[in-house]
Amino acid sequence: MSQEPTPSLLSSTRQDRFLRYAGVGLFAGVAIMYLAPQRFIAESHPYALFVVAAVGAVVAIVSALAALYSVRCPKCGLHWVRWAIGHRPANEWLSWLYSFSECPTCGHHQPRGSSAI
Ligand SMILES: [Zn+2]
Repeated sequence: MSQEPTPSLLSSTRQDRFLRYAGVGLFAGVAIMYLAPQRFIAESHPYALFVVAAVGAVVAIVSALAALYSVRCPKCGLHWVRWAIGHRPANEWLSWLYSFSECPTCGHHQPRGSSAI
């Protein structure tokens, strides 16, 4: 007798994709910042290093802020990523986001058998 695992509220509300996009953006921003001091960029123009580094920083910061503010409860508006970072241990907040099934503030949960809002 097997019971199908309950999908997390994050994935059942289809907001897990925002975390994936933010992760890709954060990685891209760091990669751009890594490229900034490379010789082919630094020697191309006196300000190229600073411009490329600034673009990378902006991409990384915007991606992080997007994750913080775009993932939220459809019922009460609680920002789940911010809540998880503030209330869960540092090594558990991300895994909690992918496993929780009920909003910690309002108790909103996805009805069984429903995959979207
Ligand atoms: Zn809620």
